[in-house]
Amino acid sequence: MRLVDSHGHLNADRFAADVELVVGGAVVAGVERVLVPGWNVGSSDRALELAARWPWLDAAVGIHPHDASKVDEPGWASIEAWARDERVVAIGETGLDSDRLFSPWDAQLANLRRNLALALETGKPAILHCRSRTGERDAQDALVDELMRAGMDGPAARGAFGDRPPAVIHSYSGPVDYCATVLAMGLAVSFSGLVFRRGEEASAEAVTMVPASRLLVETDSPFLSPPGGPRGRNEPAYVAITAGWAAERRGVGEDVLGDGLVAAYDATFPRARPR
Ligand SMILES: [Zn+2]
Repeated sequence: MRLVDSHGHLNADRFAADVELVVGGAVVAGVERVLVPGWNVGSSDRALELAARWPWLDAAVGIHPHDASKVDEPGWASIEAWARDERVVAIGETGLDSDRLFSPWDAQLANLRRNLALALETGKPAILHCRSRTGERDAQDALVDELMRAGMDGPAARGAFGDRPPAVIHSYSGPVDYCATVLAMGLAVSFSGLVFRRGEEASAEAVTMVPASRLLVETDSPFLSPPGGPRGRNEPAYVAITAGWAAERRGVGEDVLGDGLVAAYDATFPRARPR
């Protein structure tokens, strides 16, 4: 099966000592693309370094909701400058998190708006983290409101992105009707090992609703190791487990699913550099 990891933090400290081995392991597992998203200024810089070192990796730069209240103006200026770099194919990760309020809600909203504006300005899709407490959906509902407020479902997004998704819901979590709403807005949806956790049962239905051209899978390494993966640090190689789950839920062969994943990735994250 052809594989992509649409969201793997190879820029995390937990990979600093042996990132060569982890990248090699991904190659051996058949992973053809890894998108390395930043979550703050330092990790965005590190994503760029990794994409320079291994040109088949792609970078994203942006500020995570957890870091929303920690970025200063010079830091944000760096993100804006890096967003134009040809190694950068997306803006993020950004989003909203009402489960763990590591940054106050108002700061999260302001940060999300800034990241969405940068996505529209550069024509690079926003990568969106969105979590509410188990069984709740306030963050998802607020995210949909913010996407509409930013014009992600209208002419502004069509002007910047054409037929491409203006944003990706990363590590999908939420009720089925939320999936339908973001799909109607033209977004892509990416599933991680979170789908195997209790409280995330709606993902099994959501994954059947996503058109193949907008379906992505990811590890969110070093987090969210799936069943059958390592007990500790997750790695891009284990994206095969979530991809296999998606193929089974959708009732398609792994070959068909894998070809679709690569095509969806390339259509969502076009890059200026040759592959
Ligand atoms: Zn992430």
